[in-house]
Amino acid sequence: MLPQRIAYLDLDMRKVEVKEVPEEITRRFLGGRGINIYLLYHSVGPETHPLSPQNPLIIGPGMVTGLKGISASRCNISGKSPESGLLGDSNIGGYFGAFMKRTGIDFLFITGSSSKPVYIYLDKERISIEDARDLWGKSTTETDMILSERYGPACQSISIGVAGENLVRFACIINRKKNTAGRTGMGCLMGSKKIKAIVVNGKEPVEPEDEAGFDRLMRGFQQGLKKEPLVKLLGEYGSSLLYILVNRRIGMGRSYNGLSTKFPGGENISPNILKDKYYTGKAGCYSCPVSCHHKYRVGEIESEGPEYSILASFGPVVGIKRLEAVLYINDLINRYGLDSSSTANLIAWTIELLKRGLIDQSVTDGLSLDWGNEEAIIELIHRIAHRKGLGNILADGAREAVRYFGEETGRYLLWSKNLPQTDPADLRYFPAYALGDATASRGPDHLRSRPTWESYRLSEETLRGIYGGDISANPRSYLGKGRVIWWWETYLSLFDALGICKLIAFHCQPGLIDFAFFSELVRCATGIDLTAEEIFAVGERIVNLERMFLVREGIKRKDDFPPQRYFEPLAWQDGLKPEEKDLKLDRAAFEGMLDEYYRLRGWDSEGVPLSGTKERLGLAR
Ligand code: SF4
Repeated sequence: MLPQRIAYLDLDMRKVEVKEVPEEITRRFLGGRGINIYLLYHSVGPETHPLSPQNPLIIGPGMVTGLKGISASRCNISGKSPESGLLGDSNIGGYFGAFMKRTGIDFLFITGSSSKPVYIYLDKERISIEDARDLWGKSTTETDMILSERYGPACQSISIGVAGENLVRFACIINRKKNTAGRTGMGCLMGSKKIKAIVVNGKEPVEPEDEAGFDRLMRGFQQGLKKEPLVKLLGEYGSSLLYILVNRRIGMGRSYNGLSTKFPGGENISPNILKDKYYTGKAGCYSCPVSCHHKYRVGEIESEGPEYSILASFGPVVGIKRLEAVLYINDLINRYGLDSSSTANLIAWTIELLKRGLIDQSVTDGLSLDWGNEEAIIELIHRIAHRKGLGNILADGAREAVRYFGEETGRYLLWSKNLPQTDPADLRYFPAYALGDATASRGPDHLRSRPTWESYRLSEETLRGIYGGDISANPRSYLGKGRVIWWWETYLSLFDALGICKLIAFHCQPGLIDFAFFSELVRCATGIDLTAEEIFAVGERIVNLERMFLVREGIKRKDDFPPQRYFEPLAWQDGLKPEEKDLKLDRAAFEGMLDEYYRLRGWDSEGVPLSGTKERLGLAR
């Protein structure tokens, strides 16, 4: 599997150059998100405009992506974000990353831009730039089908839809029907270069260096996985299982733009109904033992999903109560290539602004935009993708929309670091979740640190064993939660660097996948020896370099807070339990948690990595 190779593709010069990744860089960053941030940090600066040809589109499957039996399907797509203007980084599953590894190219680093629509083709022998004028204007699903027919079963593609072509700032990138690099507008960056699709064509699977050792490791891993009850349920329900746990069991799902956590009359938004009435078969990412995707049929539509974030965002967050409408929207936004989190949050925010009278109906061009008005919401999605009227305002992303409507409207938007919140959960309930969203390097996001074990009722002794310090077992407590996020951010960055799916991390008990496991996996896969401590340091290095990128862009402590709304009790008190009525984040306690997190990271009180930290991690130069 080594050395890893990077193809530098310059669209202006129509030139390709392939270089090897030095072993020292591989040892320090592994692959995927790790090497992506290394390349990005050293190729752009604060002066680089996200839509300029100099901003690279970096495609990086994880170090072990393509190996069988461990959900190693993932690929990171990075660049300076057209949505936030800060760190752009998004992770996609499906089949593309594994098939890209088969071409012998581990990273694509694309600069410049084309004057005409193109797609990029890769196989073992060639990398070429092809005419895509016949694909421009087509949906992601149509594009995928056309390219599959053109190149046959050994090919996989990623593509943008109409949203990416129209430079909607939160456009995403799709493989097949639903595998999505959703966050931070990487589809917009791809559209700015006029790249409609990237096709990879490879027949021979990737093999580990030490086959016997790898098989042994996989046997143990898969036996352990079978004993995990939540993983079994994940396979049955897909990630919509989280809707049952978060919205139903814990009751912390956001509704109505975070004005409430209750959704009366919304019983139809149900993973059980989804499973019993609409699922038509299973699907999954490359060689995943869980296979949590599901195909569904509703009316004429045959699609896949919906993921938890779409179910919750286009259900309670915007107030839609009809499951069929959510299933329709799931297919629609994937065809357009729109990020579901930003789209739903911006629509919910607009509805609240209308309700508060902060904007008037004249901006809607006749749409009766209201909670749960599915026709108006669907029409607004069309207008966002095609940049029409109000859709055009929202298509410029949160930062520009707040400027347009007035800075005072920003306090009703659930966002920070210029990005709407990904997680459709209310952050008042678990302070650790709030800190993790606030410090996430790409903006408020649960996929950087979601500490699901907060809800597992583990003993304080077990927690001390995992995290190495005193942690309260109470998920409502702030005690030790800075340490929890320090640990989870580090841990999950390794999943992204290796190319393993994090859904497994969220649904397993502690111990099945730990740093020693990663160490053995890297050794079997590549022959590189790294101790568990060195693997942990790789995670720290990735998080620190991302922070250095953000600091260079002007980010500091004031940007590491959740939205103001979470420091106030829920606005709509109907249906709340007595203990939920006054629930809010405590600012002083949050500051304490942030201090603890900074201290463990080796950052100063403003969140800037100290020189000693940079020295220790080899990031000083
Ligand atoms: S658990 Fe689900 S999302 Fe993750 S790799 Fe497997 S099929 Fe894909």
